[in-house]
Amino acid sequence: MSLPTRLPDYTLRRSARRRTIEIQVRPDSVRVLAPTRVSRASIDRMVAEKTEWINTRQQALRQRVPMMSAPVPLDQGSDLLWLGERLSLEVIANQPTTHVSRCGDRLQLALSSRIRKARADAISEQLEGWYRAQAFDYFQARVRFWCVHTRLSPSEVRVRSYRRKWGCCTSRGVVSFNWLLIMAPVHIIDYVIVHELSHLLHMNHSAAFWSTVAKYYPDYREAKAWLNNQRDLHWPPRQLSGE
Ligand SMILES: [Zn+2]
Repeated sequence: MSLPTRLPDYTLRRSARRRTIEIQVRPDSVRVLAPTRVSRASIDRMVAEKTEWINTRQQALRQRVPMMSAPVPLDQGSDLLWLGERLSLEVIANQPTTHVSRCGDRLQLALSSRIRKARADAISEQLEGWYRAQAFDYFQARVRFWCVHTRLSPSEVRVRSYRRKWGCCTSRGVVSFNWLLIMAPVHIIDYVIVHELSHLLHMNHSAAFWSTVAKYYPDYREAKAWLNNQRDLHWPPRQLSGE
């Protein structure tokens, strides 16, 4: 007789409509879906029989998790990106007011004692607000610089949240930028600005459009590739890639 192996912890969800037992393995949890009529003893027996499979599967999943780089909660010492540079977060709690300030390679967040939110939520929310405001100011100024250079002027510059694009230009000449770009290096931001300004001349991605881009930003292919391969422009930030 073999030694009884410890049963993996699992949560049980029963359903009257279900006919079979299903075991769902996640990196940090196991869930068993079972028909209402099946006894707890038989479920335990089945989980016991599958213990080795569950453990192997869980281990494989856990090894894959870092590749997917889950969001990391922001707190003391967290790494943040700012115009391509790494900043280290410093949180000072119980302050009279809330404010964010950058000091060399540190980003200081003073949290007001009046904030009632969970610490992690308060930190993420305050930093996001600060990043968005900074992105707005930065893009206004940087677009002005490129307007002088290219003589292409948008009717308005906006900073927004986009899931799948870095910028956009409307037929009315409004150019918008994804606020996450404030974490990218300046030369990448410049490429996105030149790209959107070039759309003021060509509302498509024709050869003529790309030759306008190339005129003001000759290395555009490199910048495009950087954006396609980047893994760090997310909010909340994920574990930063590379060193
Ligand atoms: Zn475009």
